[in-house]
Amino acid sequence: MKVSIITIGDELLKGSTVNTNAAFLGECLLEIGIVPSQNLVVPDSPDAICKALDYLVPDSELIITSGGLGPTGDDLTRDVIAGYFKLKLVSDESICAIFKDRWQRLKNCPPPPKVLEQALVPEGGEAFINEVGTAPGLWFQADSGKYVCMLPGPPLEQRPMVAKQLIPKLKSVLKNPVAAKVYYIAHASESEVEKSVESIIKGKNIKTAYCASYDHVKLFLSCMSEHELSSVCAEVESHFGEQLLKENCKSMTEDIIIRLKEKCLTLSTAESCTGGMIAAGITSIPGASEIFAGSLVAYCNDIKTRCLNVTREVLDTYGAVSEQCVASMVENLCARFITSAGIAVSGIAGPDGGTPEKPVGLVYIAVKVNGQCKVIKCNFSGNRDAIRHRAVAEALYILREMLLQ
Ligand code: ATP
Repeated sequence: MKVSIITIGDELLKGSTVNTNAAFLGECLLEIGIVPSQNLVVPDSPDAICKALDYLVPDSELIITSGGLGPTGDDLTRDVIAGYFKLKLVSDESICAIFKDRWQRLKNCPPPPKVLEQALVPEGGEAFINEVGTAPGLWFQADSGKYVCMLPGPPLEQRPMVAKQLIPKLKSVLKNPVAAKVYYIAHASESEVEKSVESIIKGKNIKTAYCASYDHVKLFLSCMSEHELSSVCAEVESHFGEQLLKENCKSMTEDIIIRLKEKCLTLSTAESCTGGMIAAGITSIPGASEIFAGSLVAYCNDIKTRCLNVTREVLDTYGAVSEQCVASMVENLCARFITSAGIAVSGIAGPDGGTPEKPVGLVYIAVKVNGQCKVIKCNFSGNRDAIRHRAVAEALYILREMLLQ
């Protein structure tokens, strides 16, 4: 299916809002085997929206728009799109009833007309219920047979709507559904993964896509034949083995949390140059409290000494960025936080502070699991941001490796 996206909003062009909806929609569509053909960003202007439609409609089977469905003056999408396809807008009584009930319960009054306007649906179309906000999503098929889907702009509203309503809808209208599978491969480079996968799929009718992040490569496989895809998946699984993140895990952090739970282990972190980034990643996952005790951002030497008992002797002799320092940090961390596993990180993220002996990018990581401690010296390249993210990814990877033993 040929799908095009129009993301609408002045703020997207000004750069005051990052167009995360485009990335999110691309990712969701990929999981059902669709790579959007084009994505246009346009301002809140009827003329710009119509020009985008003129350009995209002839070569698309589905147009998805994002934004501009709300009650404010700049929200024009519903009217402009219905007008473009020459469809009347009619009130959806079930959506009106939801608004009336919500206003009665929360404000003890009927909804204002501007709110009720959001219950207007292009004739013959249907509304996707908005679980989080007010404006419903809209779906219709034009006379030409082309499908149109309008989604609200706020990501918190759009995401559940896409997962629960748009994707099932798309699956139901796809003429030739594509069999698709996504894998997350820990601690690998895109080129390594590509090389292995290309040899596995040689001569087979499989489409691939790769997406690398600091701690994993996302591998996407699709095929018109379910049977052919399963045989390739079996080979991919046997080739990458434990390198594959657990089913349903989209990051190394999620994978580690499950492994810690399975082994009934608890974790704490002592972070210097990563400043709590490992802890932030872990606590962003629901249910992390079952395994995560806490974190100390031990940035200056005084805190390393006072809160983690790193001795003056270690700091004076070897320095804060040293094997001895992180080993001592993790040892005392696990004792203080009473956890069976711990991670300590200390390094030079730059751009200043490097010396010939200890250059920018030098990071020591210590990981302790059930009394066994591993210390790694790393030399990361890149700017401050990249070095800190690489340190986080490496620390998680070492912990994962130890959990696999
Ligand atoms: P509302 O009822 O909030 O007006 P809406 O569907 O009209 O919903 P917009 O007004 O276009 O949506 O956008 C509302 C907010 O959603 C924006 O201020 C912005 O923060 C966010 N948003 C809009 N489009 C995007 C996008 N493409 N990527 C990320 N965030 C977005």
